[in-house]
Amino acid sequence: MDQSQYPHMFAPLDLGFTTLRNRVLMGSMHTGLEELGEWERIATYYGARARGGAALIVTGGMAPNREGGVFAGAAGLFSQDDIANHRIVTDRVHDEGGKIAMQILHAGRYAYNPDCVAPSAIKSPISPFVPKELDEEGIEKQINDFVTAATRAREAGYDGVEIMGSEGYFLNQFIVRHTNKRTDRWGGSYENRIRLPLEVVRRCRAAVGEDFIIIYRLSMIDLVPDGSTFDEVVELAQKVEAAGATIINTGIGWHEARVPTIATSVPRAAFTWVTKKLMGKVGIPVITSNRINTPEVADQVLADGCADMVSMARPFLADAEIVAKAADGRRDQIAPCIACNQACLDHTFSGKISTCLVNPRACYETELRYEPAAQPKTIAVVGAGPAGLETAIVAAERGHKVTLFDKADRIGGQLDMARRIPGKEEFNGLIGYFEARLAATGVSVRLGQAARTDMLQGFDEVVIATGVNPRDPGIPGQDGPNVLGYIDVLRGGAAVGEKVAIIGAGGIGFDVAEFLVERGHSPATDLEMWKREWGVGDPEENPGGLAPDGPQPAKPAHQVTLLQRKAEKLGRNLGKTTGWIHRATLKMKGVKMIGGVNYERIDADGLHVSFGEARENPTLIEADTIILCAGQVSERSLADALQEKGITPHVIGGADKAGELDAKRAINQAARLAAIL
Ligand code: NAP
Ligand code: SF4
Repeated sequence: MDQSQYPHMFAPLDLGFTTLRNRVLMGSMHTGLEELGEWERIATYYGARARGGAALIVTGGMAPNREGGVFAGAAGLFSQDDIANHRIVTDRVHDEGGKIAMQILHAGRYAYNPDCVAPSAIKSPISPFVPKELDEEGIEKQINDFVTAATRAREAGYDGVEIMGSEGYFLNQFIVRHTNKRTDRWGGSYENRIRLPLEVVRRCRAAVGEDFIIIYRLSMIDLVPDGSTFDEVVELAQKVEAAGATIINTGIGWHEARVPTIATSVPRAAFTWVTKKLMGKVGIPVITSNRINTPEVADQVLADGCADMVSMARPFLADAEIVAKAADGRRDQIAPCIACNQACLDHTFSGKISTCLVNPRACYETELRYEPAAQPKTIAVVGAGPAGLETAIVAAERGHKVTLFDKADRIGGQLDMARRIPGKEEFNGLIGYFEARLAATGVSVRLGQAARTDMLQGFDEVVIATGVNPRDPGIPGQDGPNVLGYIDVLRGGAAVGEKVAIIGAGGIGFDVAEFLVERGHSPATDLEMWKREWGVGDPEENPGGLAPDGPQPAKPAHQVTLLQRKAEKLGRNLGKTTGWIHRATLKMKGVKMIGGVNYERIDADGLHVSFGEARENPTLIEADTIILCAGQVSERSLADALQEKGITPHVIGGADKAGELDAKRAINQAARLAAIL
């Protein structure tokens, strides 16, 4: 055991009637599994995280009633059958030595449901439905439904409940004037506005007894106009404690806030300073959260006295064993959450089951299994980008003898470019993880070696993961000295002039634009700069934590124009929950975004474009440098050459399909192939 490296994280936490084995809470995440009703799968998912060391797991949000569900049909404990199903999960978690609390999530006006209810009939900016204003009787019903959910949770074997009072959901909507315009005893004064959450906690406690965990998730910085002052936050926390809560968990920002709170460009542990302000003001343990993704960060946050416990959510998708590996000296084997949201939150918001970009087994544990190979084979994998790396590692882990080739002198492929983008520093950790896994699984790595067909002939299986090449957009003048490819800029460090036009506004066009405007200094690694850029202020001085003078972005390093041919909003196909952040970042940095162009030609003055099918309105985009980011085409020359020699390789990743390629698809495809080789 190597717990001594993280002494704060591995200190048990005595709650009086029960003890948590360490200071790590697995925070609530909606996975979509509960709505599927595959309870063995759900039990396997949570059981793995309990075995992997989480002291206390919080489930995805369960609706206390139909009107409060995040969407119509959202899961909850509505019947005896539901209770019996949840018991399968709680039993499994207990068998694995863990504890589990059920989150009660009433969405209020955020419910994607025409029957949604709220303190006042004010539509949220992120929902199409105007909520119904509750009357006294309606409020009483909501409280009773919370209490019923809590008692049923206890019946289902949960160790506790988390009452969701933050992120702009129902209870939070009562707390702030922004959404509560009532003039009765549930609105107006602060005392009236916090009456509902306190009633919910008090009555839940009375119903469940003393030896049951009640976590209250409290919004410590709303990041919306008219949010709570910090004095109000402290008052609420103290009253929540008096009402019977066991633990206070931190909520950061409403869902409608225009400040990123968990994306990869948010600095690690970016909000723990907010929770720290509450330390010493209440007698019960306080949990902090958001962008805590490694044991080092977790331990440091606790050592700094920011909280009594940390919440990590997505890191448990990336690696169910994050805590266990930190405990027993396998730190370098932890698959890191890179906070991309691509397979978790983006899936949730697209109605798909959550999983993880770096761990395709997350939520698919029962289906995607890595069994020891019945017959060990020799396997050649060509290409050490995400697809090749994942194949090599999983195949070797299963007992195959794997050789991995790459013509580059380092692993990573496109990841090696992504890691250079400001705000994508987490990719460094992912590459480091792949390196450690290659070593641990005994893959023979041949870097700086372009594989040829003759080198691949003796293998039982050949996997081609040779990735992509930049597409040639064929624009007259593109061979001029003022034109660069994105690889020249990102990897080659080519000199770029002051005025830049970027051809192509996909993932790479946006990345290159961010690289250029931020050049030299990444706000993701400088918390104070990041707070200034996004207008995050001190909630002790500014209600809700919004800086009075708004975002103060630093001057961009280049004047950038980003272009695409499609006549639609640029960045439309970026991540569902993160695209807005990329667009807002570039907008703040004065990047001009132009869609619907035809690229006519490039000359010494810059890029000449026209608009529409009739090629009207000829326009010069003045630029010192033009950068080509026009997408990718598959690199299949080796695959084709092998076919000619009678060898049929497996072709995966970008070599298989280049369009809108991303690492999620590549790693998923690779893992599924490696599981059956
Ligand atoms: P892409 O997303 O497919 O975008 C290609 C861009 O090039 C589009 O803007 C397209 O717009 C333009 N284009 C296509 N054909 C063209 C042509 N013949 N002439 C001129 N322009 C052309 O590809 P990408 O930008 O290379 O991005 C893929 C990469 O982004 C992957 O490596 C992925 O990992 C990374 N990435 C993905 C995400 C994500 O959210 N999924 C985020 C960041 C980075 P028009 O056709 O309208 O001109
Ligand atoms: Fe983290 Fe991305 Fe995995 Fe989500 S998909 S858990 S953000 S690495």
